[in-house]
Amino acid sequence: MSEITVTVKQVLEKKGSVTYSVTPDTSVFDALALMALHDIGAVLVTDTGRMVGIFTERDYARKIVLKGLSSKNVKVGEMMTTSVQTITLADKITHVMSTMTNKRFRHLPVLDDGKVVGIITIGDVVKAVIEEQEATIQHLANYISGEIAT
Ligand code: AMP
Repeated sequence: MSEITVTVKQVLEKKGSVTYSVTPDTSVFDALALMALHDIGAVLVTDTGRMVGIFTERDYARKIVLKGLSSKNVKVGEMMTTSVQTITLADKITHVMSTMTNKRFRHLPVLDDGKVVGIITIGDVVKAVIEEQEATIQHLANYISGEIAT
C-alpha cells in the first residue's frame, strides 16, 4: 500500500485532543463505566498528572473475565499495561499503522513535550487511510476527465 502521509497532528486537529483517564486505584468497573459513557475502548491511567499505564477492553476480557475475577474488586492499577508505547505529533499515519499492527494494540497516546495531547485509535487510522485514498481517487478522476475533455 502507498504511504499515508497525513500526520498525527493533522488527525488530531480534526478529532480533537480529549483523552479520558482514571487513576490506578479506580475500580475496573468504574473504568468500564467511563468507557461505556464515552463510547471508547481504552482509558489512560494517570497518577498525579503523569501517565503510568493504559487499560483497554482487551485487558478486561483477558485479565478479569477469563480469570473469573470481579471488576468491582479489582483496581485498574493491578491490570493495566505499564510500558505504554506513544507517538508524536509529527509521526505519519503509515508509521502509526505499522506500530499498531506489529505490537497488536489499537490505541496510541500522543506525547508533545512530555505531555499527553491526544490519542490515536485504529478507527482514526482507518478513517485517515480511507480519506487519503478517496482524495487520490478524486484527483485521478479529475485528471482523467481533464485529459478526455482536452
Ligand atoms: P488494545 O488492542 O488497544 O485493546 O490493546 C491490547 C493490549 O495492548 C492490552 O493489554 C493493552 O493494555 C495494551 N496496549 C494498548 N495500547 C497500548 C500502548 N499504546 N502501549 C502499550 N500497551 C498498549
